[in-house]
Amino acid sequence: MARYVFITGGVVSSLGKGLASAALGALLQARGYSVRLRKLDPYLNVDPGTMSPFEHGEVFVTDDGAETDLDLGHYERFTGVAARNTDSVSSGRIYSTVLEKERRGDYLGKTIQVIPHVTNEIKEFLKVGDEEVDFMLCEIGGTVGDIEGLPFFEAIRQFSQDKPRGECIFMHLTLLPWIKASGELKTKPTQHSVKELRSIGIAPDVLVCRSEGPIPSKEREKLALFCNVRPDSVIAAQDLKSIYEAPLAYHREGLDQAVLDAFQIAPAPRPDLRRWEDVADRIYNPQGEVKVAIVGKYTQLEDAYKSIAEALTHGGMSNRVKVNVEWVDAELFEREDPAPHLEGFNAILVPGGFGERGTEGKIKAAKFARERKVPYLGICLGMQMAVIEAARNLADLKDAGSEEFDHEAGGKRFEPVVYHLKEWVQGNHKVERKVSDDKGGTMRLGSYDAVLTEGSRVAQAYGTTQIEERHRHRYEVDIKYREQLEASGLHFTGMSPDGRLPEIVEVKDHPWFIGVQFHPELKSKPFAPHPLFHDFVRAAKETSLLV
Ligand code: GLN
Repeated sequence: MARYVFITGGVVSSLGKGLASAALGALLQARGYSVRLRKLDPYLNVDPGTMSPFEHGEVFVTDDGAETDLDLGHYERFTGVAARNTDSVSSGRIYSTVLEKERRGDYLGKTIQVIPHVTNEIKEFLKVGDEEVDFMLCEIGGTVGDIEGLPFFEAIRQFSQDKPRGECIFMHLTLLPWIKASGELKTKPTQHSVKELRSIGIAPDVLVCRSEGPIPSKEREKLALFCNVRPDSVIAAQDLKSIYEAPLAYHREGLDQAVLDAFQIAPAPRPDLRRWEDVADRIYNPQGEVKVAIVGKYTQLEDAYKSIAEALTHGGMSNRVKVNVEWVDAELFEREDPAPHLEGFNAILVPGGFGERGTEGKIKAAKFARERKVPYLGICLGMQMAVIEAARNLADLKDAGSEEFDHEAGGKRFEPVVYHLKEWVQGNHKVERKVSDDKGGTMRLGSYDAVLTEGSRVAQAYGTTQIEERHRHRYEVDIKYREQLEASGLHFTGMSPDGRLPEIVEVKDHPWFIGVQFHPELKSKPFAPHPLFHDFVRAAKETSLLV
């Protein structure tokens, strides 16, 4: 049975709870333990799939097709453990399960209440797969005191009581503000936050405090005394230049030791931190730089493309270069010539997206990259745009476009080179969708196999012709244009195993021009960069050496 670490937050949001959880997972692994990380989100959406990336950041997709919170991306990047559908839950999902059961009559006429029905459902979620790992790390979204978070806090409190003594611990993350005028680090907000937590029956075992600098011993003792934790369980989380230093930094501060002490595990197995030392060395000692433009729509919020930014960093690490990313708003190219804006970049990436806004600009970016022979990586919508560009400008299909935009505008303006897929094969069963299906979860989601053409650039990059990658889209490039497009220079070098769905396209006569229908960024890790990102950055590095 797994031991449980519950991670909660207080004082303010955005303190890096997800990162602290992920780093703790990595440290426990370094000591030889197996881990799984989970996220419990108090919002009422059933999943983040329908939330705007502007508001909530990217949607992280798992192999088994769940649309989850971006924190699951951190978990995977730090532990290498593939997240599952059962690793992310929201109040919305919990309530809809409870209400479904109520309608089915499962509760035999009982009055349905938050305690015990909702809390029981949360506890069931916590238990799934607990026999598989040594430690289950469960992060509660939001901050203590939020009205919507209460059922989750109550559920974890009950859960720790249901378990034998010593199998659950609580880690609380807070902020120590620095008051410049008086030159002091303030502990009061943390004291209040812990008080709030204790008022609902949870006493933290480990306190992680975000602060600009180290915590002086006077403040550390004060925190220990007033918050009822041991002084060596007060862990400083200082700002870092790179998130990938977090496992080493938390280890130096004694986080993993404090957690093992709280479980009374002694002697603690010694950690092997070589993986993270290598990662830190690569990130802090690059031997060159490349500049990559990401031409997208959600450029105001970098979290909207979190995994892409991280995967580029990983590609930089394996090539020993620093990748400088600049976010370029695709709509700009609908008004202005892209050339002066894109000329200084070593590579161009067009990411995924939904809706027509900005797409003509993305098509222009793809054209610029193709004609000027700048390395180009098109992801999902970015691949579709590259195909439309080639169809219009190479294959003479002047009206080429995507059905997505016609659906949106409610008329037929385009030749549907990219069309709405309503029926496909997953493994050995058929999936069907209608245009009128509700928005949530109706896409081709999760991991699918693809077969690559022998000798293609992608097959070289991957070092194999059989791959599995994660998908999240409704529209597909229509296979019926294959011959015409290939004759004009755009080759279909990756296909679904049944040969019906184009997964990868590449321009032959170009140093590096690849479009992929899936999301390779979701599987990249700092210690195992995704082959496409590694190769894309390598190509960018080569162009940087030319100038
Ligand atoms: N909007 C496109 C589709 O649904 C692309 C989606 C994406 O980029 N994730 O096919």
